[in-house]
Amino acid sequence: MKTALDRRLLGRALTELANAGVEQLLEQSSLPPPEASARRIGLTGAPGAGKSTLAGRLALHRLRRVGGRVGVLAIDPSSPKTHGAILGDRIRMDELEGAQDLFIRSLASRTASDGLTDNLPELLEVMDRFAFDEVVLETVGVGQAEHAARLHVDTLVLVLPPDGGDAVQAMKAGIMEVADIFAVNKADIPEARRFAADVRRMVTLARHDAEGWRPPMLLTSAHDPDSIAALSDAIDRHFAWLEASGQRDRNRLARRKYRLRRWLERRIDDVVERQPAAFFELPAEQQVAGALQQLVAT
Ligand code: GDP
Repeated sequence: MKTALDRRLLGRALTELANAGVEQLLEQSSLPPPEASARRIGLTGAPGAGKSTLAGRLALHRLRRVGGRVGVLAIDPSSPKTHGAILGDRIRMDELEGAQDLFIRSLASRTASDGLTDNLPELLEVMDRFAFDEVVLETVGVGQAEHAARLHVDTLVLVLPPDGGDAVQAMKAGIMEVADIFAVNKADIPEARRFAADVRRMVTLARHDAEGWRPPMLLTSAHDPDSIAALSDAIDRHFAWLEASGQRDRNRLARRKYRLRRWLERRIDDVVERQPAAFFELPAEQQVAGALQQLVAT
């Protein structure tokens, strides 16, 4: 049996980490690794695609069907959504009855540029420490940050709006190539079906790896529980494939490399910033040698 979820403690830990600097992150990283890692499901897509609503539906479905402890984290560096208020609104109170093990939280960074997604590995690790079985991570899917976020989830679902508005944008950002599942959302809207056919064609063209995972294209709607169940089943199939193909282990190794690289980069930044102006007048070799020495000494 797990101990009861301490929501206040978890909430505080997440808020602190969301805005933490390097030192705090390193402190957290020196703790022993968590005993187990939650299954991580990423939902990404443009604002308004229906991610929050879908994340709530999916989390409830998985909680009811799969059981265990399920968390939803919404990361949004640019909007003032805070403390799960908005996300929480998407779920009716009566649906939460008996859902003690569902935890929902939106996290916004104080400024748009402090790179909240930089702290993603630690935020997700906190969820592992609080013994979550599954975490649904919602991120806004435009740009580089998403590619970094991609590394930290097991299954990435790209949520597209039914009118195809940002499909071209998504392709430009390369998201089409990294998503594991495509969901044309708000399938209750008539345009959705036609757009879904277009996406299916685009995906077939962009992804023709015969050996690998073939990303399914689904139509989803918050109003259609069967479509949520179908999405959930696709996530399970992808997860089974990750385990069977050894891809999950490769992902784990890639995550560790990413973290080490990020720690080193931050330390390098510290050393560079610390130098007086005269240091940069030295010959290049001396600058490199001097900086390396300081790096090792810190
Ligand atoms: P996000 O910005 O991607 O997180 O999108 P939201 O979850 O906030 O949803 C944006 C809007 O779309 C809200 O007004 C929702 O009520 C609406 N919405 C969400 N899911 C559906 C759906 O399945 N069908 C329809 N018709 N509207 C939806």
